[in-house]
Amino acid sequence: MNWGSSLDPTGIKKMKNQELVLEDYLNTKDLLTSYSHDEIGDDHLYTGVKTPMRADAFDISDEEKKESIAKLFEQIMEVMGLDLKDDSLKGTPTRVAKMYIEEIFSGLNPANKPKVALFENKYQYNQMLVEKDITFYSNCEHHFVPIIGKAHVAYISSGKVIGLSKLNRIVQYYAKRPQVQERLTNQIALELQSILDTEDVAVIIDAKHLCVSSRGIKDDTSATVTSFYGGKFQIPEKVQELYNYINN
Ligand SMILES: [Zn+2]
Repeated sequence: MNWGSSLDPTGIKKMKNQELVLEDYLNTKDLLTSYSHDEIGDDHLYTGVKTPMRADAFDISDEEKKESIAKLFEQIMEVMGLDLKDDSLKGTPTRVAKMYIEEIFSGLNPANKPKVALFENKYQYNQMLVEKDITFYSNCEHHFVPIIGKAHVAYISSGKVIGLSKLNRIVQYYAKRPQVQERLTNQIALELQSILDTEDVAVIIDAKHLCVSSRGIKDDTSATVTSFYGGKFQIPEKVQELYNYINN
């Protein structure tokens, strides 16, 4: 699919549920200025491949963040009229804060990035390696509700190989952020290209967004597929080979 320079604001809306390639998202940022914030959220548009974070994001410690989040979440619950003296609700603000920082958004902190060791393996030179059906849980950055899906990750070895569990860990690291599926796809792919020192990386993500199925248009059956095909994965035969592995 080539959106190329003909990409226009109407074209961006069509991106949902369709494949997106690298040059496309680089073109999207300026075009988003013609959208209201509500439209950006409900259409799940996004502004770039980097997770938008402030420069001072890590000036305070995780402990301080958990304390602040707990206080603020308590306020949200208060405003909604919930009785925080109730034994069932009492611990919720602290639990949510801990879950945000230590689990579901732990991938915002570069300190939690998986350490990756590469192995030389001349026998696997030029071979396609595919790790399929990597289950992940992420959260939509527009609604803060879950995105649940599977990632298929592939690369063509330049002589270096990476442990399969590390491919899984890289997927999990980027999933544990407030995300947009296209960005998640691209972040995983660019990370692998950089680690493996090759362009020949493909990432396909098939996911369900709870903000689409449990609220908004309440479409319970649709899934969103996004993909990144780098280097040799732009050759149709390679894509076919990849699909054979995935569908096998
Ligand atoms: Zn959403």
